[in-house]
Amino acid sequence: MKITASFHLRCLLISAVFGAGCGDSADPSSAVSPAENTQHTGSGPIHVVCTTNIIKDLVRQIGGERVAVTAIMDGPGIDPHSYTPSPQDTNALTAADLVVYSGLHLEGQFDGPLESLNHRGIPVICVTEGLASEQPGRLLQTPDGIADPHVWFDPELWLSCGQHLADELSEYDPDGREQYSKSAVAFAELMRTTQAEGRKIIASVPVTRRVLVTAHDAFEYFARAFEFRVEAVQGISTESKPGLRRVDELVTLLVDNRIAAVFTEQSVSDRNIAALVAGCEARQHALKIGGRLYSDTAGAEGTEQETLAGALLHNIRQIADALAETEPDADKPAPGSNAAAPQTGASTESEDSQ
Ligand SMILES: [Zn+2]
Repeated sequence: MKITASFHLRCLLISAVFGAGCGDSADPSSAVSPAENTQHTGSGPIHVVCTTNIIKDLVRQIGGERVAVTAIMDGPGIDPHSYTPSPQDTNALTAADLVVYSGLHLEGQFDGPLESLNHRGIPVICVTEGLASEQPGRLLQTPDGIADPHVWFDPELWLSCGQHLADELSEYDPDGREQYSKSAVAFAELMRTTQAEGRKIIASVPVTRRVLVTAHDAFEYFARAFEFRVEAVQGISTESKPGLRRVDELVTLLVDNRIAAVFTEQSVSDRNIAALVAGCEARQHALKIGGRLYSDTAGAEGTEQETLAGALLHNIRQIADALAETEPDADKPAPGSNAAAPQTGASTESEDSQ
């Protein structure tokens, strides 16, 4: 049986409504007629190609044995904001039964290849598509109205993405509906226990020291879920240009509040974080690198951090260890300081405008 719904077409329509949806800036009117063959017809596992390894984990969690999954950006050091797909990547995408991506502009260079899949009739699922239509109020955005794509760090939002993926997979592969539905329930449970465990670990960090400074602004959802204040050198995309003024602002914040540690990221250059350490050193504040966080990717295949849950808890342990360490007078905010209180739902000010 053939169905007429096009996953990608629907995604493009959503993006037209919300301005920053899954399909980027593509004009929905340019989408061709709904893809044919949007139901699985072959035997054996469904060959799914994903963009990032965080999406690969989600597809595995929901698809189980019914899917065979690969990712184009399959490693902890790959930056999805700037990664440009090679001709081999495009071939891998066009050879897939089904393609799954994160959306909300995360995969900045994938618009063309994803759009061409629609023209070829290859079904495409955007996992964050459901958020824009069902929970727009829970999506964070910059003052410029750009949606923050790093939703996987809010376990409640990510379990919704799992549910959405289960619904879309069920439409594509109706024989697997029961399994996808059960997997979505189990995944929701995993996300909730991960959040509870994370909060337990974070409880060791006094509220006044819950300030997370990273290379790019990937942790706003994390801040909301785990009650942190976050600051970053770059905006929500690594493509934004960090200004010297921003580095100076952060050095002042770190010195004034005697914050003990800042964090590098697996998929982002350490250069800007090194500038913070040097800036603090010049002002006699010993700032250390508290760890290397997973931001836009999960860990390497075969490690505990290959799953989003594993990567998130790994981050939390590093953050708690580094920030819970006591420095002399570290719990006493500096006179005139106004920076030591965590802000939940903090704004996502981008450096794009500087
Ligand atoms: Zn990012």
